Amino acid sequence: MIESQTTPLKFYPISVPTQGSLKTVNFYLLLIKDQLLLFDAGWTGDSYWQALKQTLKENQFELEDISGIVLSHHHIDHCGLVNHIIEQHDIPVYAHKKAFPRLQREETFLRERIQFFEALYGKFDCRDRGEDQVEYLKRSLEKNRHLAVKANLLPIEEAPLNGLDALHFPGHAPDQIGLWEQTKGILFGADVLIQHISSNALVEPNESGERLPTLHQSVESLKTIASLPVQLIYSGHGSVIRDPQALVKKRLDRIDQKGDKIISLIEKGASTGKEIAQSYYGSTYDQQFSLVMSEIIGQLDYLEIQGKIDKSIKDGIYHYSPVI
Ligand SMILES: [Zn+2]
Repeated sequence: MIESQTTPLKFYPISVPTQGSLKTVNFYLLLIKDQLLLFDAGWTGDSYWQALKQTLKENQFELEDISGIVLSHHHIDHCGLVNHIIEQHDIPVYAHKKAFPRLQREETFLRERIQFFEALYGKFDCRDRGEDQVEYLKRSLEKNRHLAVKANLLPIEEAPLNGLDALHFPGHAPDQIGLWEQTKGILFGADVLIQHISSNALVEPNESGERLPTLHQSVESLKTIASLPVQLIYSGHGSVIRDPQALVKKRLDRIDQKGDKIISLIEKGASTGKEIAQSYYGSTYDQQFSLVMSEIIGQLDYLEIQGKIDKSIKDGIYHYSPVI
């Protein structure tokens, strides 16, 4: 008899509707051989807790059957229930090591991160609007202290994945990972690819306080997916992705289109980050400042990496110009 090569994986999606563009917050119970793992842990709040308990009950599990939590990345809509779970059932929490200072809300790291944004907005000529954002980050540092994950954090390499692979998908977050089940072609992709919205590449510093080329990283992560024989992607939000390769292509094409538009704005005379952001986004620049600047900065870095635009620095401010 030929032994099956298939990883004995069963999984139980938990999907909680949410207001706004995300539609749902999804997390997953994974039964791999004899290990029951929770991949992501929802947002904070009773509806998430009830949804977890209900899915456990429907499938004849108890909370105590979960042997570990694996986090796809540090964003609060993916680790909301961690503290609540481990208060009742103390289990290890596995994540990419870049998630640790972020999940633990390490004071030094977060203060340096705020300084990074202060300097960043100066370089991109948006210090005025950036000041409000920096004040917001400072207030959040105090206000969100209680959200620090109090779990015993372990590196993802130590997670008992029993044949699943943890793949690094930086871009949306520097610590983002997905879980890949090769024999069935199933990817638990978190926010690397979402069916109904494009996942933002959020500007972030690395551990040394240097700006990460987040859009470039997103493109590379999407290309990683394109290289896999992936059939289905179970995302962190929205519905299951049934034609991943077509969606990857759509997202990559859109990134290139936006890049082309930015090049044309630079050719027409927009030079600094602020000028480019305002001519691209109009009043949305003010209304959604941090998201708009993430998008523009990610694009400018990516266009520069590709050699499609030039950059010079005058009085500490970046000026972009067409490649001659
Ligand atoms: Zn998310």
